[in-house]
Amino acid sequence: MEEKKEISQKKGTRISRDEILFLLSEEPLDSLIERAYAVKVAEIGKRVSLRALIEWSSVCSKNCYYCGIRRGNSALARYRMSEDEIVSLALKAHKDGYGNLVLQSGEIESDENTSFVERVLKRIAASLGDDFGVTLSLGEQTDEVFERWREAGAHRYLLRIETSNRELYSKIHPQECSWERRRNCLRSLRKCGYQVGTGVMCALPGQTIEDLADDIIFFAEEDIDMIGMGPYIPHPATPLGQGEVLDEAAKRERFDLALRMIAVARIALGDVNIASTTALQALDPQGREKGILAGANVIMPNVTDSKYNESYNLYADKPRSDSACGEDVGKLSHLVESIGEKLLVGERGDSPHYKARGGDLV
Ligand code: SF4
Repeated sequence: MEEKKEISQKKGTRISRDEILFLLSEEPLDSLIERAYAVKVAEIGKRVSLRALIEWSSVCSKNCYYCGIRRGNSALARYRMSEDEIVSLALKAHKDGYGNLVLQSGEIESDENTSFVERVLKRIAASLGDDFGVTLSLGEQTDEVFERWREAGAHRYLLRIETSNRELYSKIHPQECSWERRRNCLRSLRKCGYQVGTGVMCALPGQTIEDLADDIIFFAEEDIDMIGMGPYIPHPATPLGQGEVLDEAAKRERFDLALRMIAVARIALGDVNIASTTALQALDPQGREKGILAGANVIMPNVTDSKYNESYNLYADKPRSDSACGEDVGKLSHLVESIGEKLLVGERGDSPHYKARGGDLV
C-alpha cells in the first residue's frame, strides 16, 4: 500500500511544458525521433506488443462531427456480429498467435448491450483464461457497467479524450457530448482496476501546438497507462470533413505532426504503452514501422472479417484487413524484425506504467 502511494505521487511529465512545446515545434524531426527511440528502448526494450483488433459493431448512438460511423450517416450499412462470431474470432486470433485482443464498437449504453458484452467476455475468459488479455473500446458507460465488464474478464479500456481542450472538444462534438463525463469515465476506469488508455487526434481544425502540449500533460495528470494518437483525417460524409480532401503535402504534414506527438509523449511519459495507429498507415504505407521508430511499442492489426470493412469507415482511406483472417502474425514478425525489433507473439502485453503504479495485473 505504501509502495502504491509513493508511486502515485510520482505522477507528472518528465520534462517541462516549455520543453514539450519546444520539442513539438522546433526540434528537428530526425533528432527528436532518435531521442524518443532511445527512451523507448531504455523503458520498454526493443519489443513490440501485438493486439488483435475486432470491430464487432458499427452501430453508434453518438454523432461526433468527425466520425464516419456517427449515427447521422444514413448511407452506412450497419452491422453487429453475433456472440458466437466474436468468440470464434477471439479463439482464432489466439490460435494464430495473438496473446490479447481489443473489442471495439460504436457507443451503445443499454442493458441489452451490457449483458451481451458481459456474456462475450465470460465466454472468452472461460476458453482462454486470464493469460489472454482483453481490451475494451466501447465508449462512455456508467461505473456499474465498467465494473461488470472488468469482473467478466476485461483487463484494459481505451477511451480517447480526442482533445484535452474543452472548448475545442465542444466544436467537434454535438452538445449532447460532455468532455467532463468522458474525463470522469477515465477516472472511473482507473478506480475499477483497468489499465487505462486514452488518446487524441492531431491536426484538428483550430488546434494549436499549445493544445497538443497540454494533451501530453493531461496524459500525465490522469496517470494514463496506454496512449493511442493519430492524425485527424477528414471523412467526406461528416460535418467536419465535408468537401475536404488532403493533398500530398497536407498528408505529409499531418503524418509528421503525429510522429512528433508519439516521440514527445515517449520522452515526457517514459514507460506507457503507445500505439502505432492504423491512421498513420493511412497516410504512409510504412506509417506503422515509422511510428515504432518514433517511440511507439504497440501495433493493433485488424482481424475483423474484411466483409465488414466498408461498414467501419471511421475516416477516409482507413487501411483494411486484406483477408478474411486479418494480417498474418509470421509476416508481422518479419516486418517488425526488419526494423530491429521483436514482436511479442502470444503475450498479453500489459503496460509497464500500470505495473509501476502498483496495478494488479491479474
Ligand atoms: S467517435 Fe465513437 S462515439 Fe463518436 S460517433 Fe464515432 S464511434 Fe460513435
